[in-house]
Amino acid sequence: MLQVADLVCGYGDITAVHGISLTLGQGETMALVGPNGAGKTSFLMALAGHIQPQSGTITLDGETINTLAAAQRCMRGIGLVPEGRRIFPDLTVMENLVVGGYSRPRSEQTLNLDHVYDIFPRLHDRQKQLAGSLSGGEQQMLAFGRAMMARPRLMLVDELSLGLMPRVVDECYAALDKLVAAGIAVILVDQNSDAALAFCSSALILESGHMTWSGLAANAPESLTH
Ligand code: ATP
Repeated sequence: MLQVADLVCGYGDITAVHGISLTLGQGETMALVGPNGAGKTSFLMALAGHIQPQSGTITLDGETINTLAAAQRCMRGIGLVPEGRRIFPDLTVMENLVVGGYSRPRSEQTLNLDHVYDIFPRLHDRQKQLAGSLSGGEQQMLAFGRAMMARPRLMLVDELSLGLMPRVVDECYAALDKLVAAGIAVILVDQNSDAALAFCSSALILESGHMTWSGLAANAPESLTH
């Protein structure tokens, strides 16, 4: 489904990612592991279309999407749960979700909302509440739900457990499990590399923007992941 070949990206003169290549099939899961500043977020941003590649190619279902804007990539099935959640604090839970489904036909809205509420019943309970008043865990669920509203086939999740209590982290992983069971592929970044490696079938390790290892998550060398 996704093929990335020798992707280089960054910010102006700064190169943050020096040549990442990977392939990911439908419903597959990949952990992206590396220390702070390794380029994990930059890579996800390049996949989602928020920063443009300097070179290399991103191919989704056989189509090169390098030059497509973020909104068009969203319409083609790439969803993003960004680092720090970036929910809209002054909108209600439901309004945040509706914004996430903007690219889909209006006729699907109720169905998509129900699907999100099925996976995150707490969002249903809080649907009229301002998103800024939710707990950190609920905000993470909302960020997930908002991305799900666009019916993604590939979900990019940045820093899943950042700042969350262990119980809430478990809930978020359980939700991610449901998405994978529904055939959605996931690329996951989590500061808790053990959790990310345990969840995902494959892994890619980055250091200073360079890919230092890739393979089955179960075989990831501990010396590179801690
Ligand atoms: P972290 O775990 O700290 O989020 P990361 O692995 O996600 O780290 P990135 O955030 O992608 O790494 O950062 C990779 C490099 O790009 C770093 O050197 C960082 O300073 C630089 N960088 C990130 N964002 C920007 C930006 N907006 N402008 C310029 N440089 C940036």
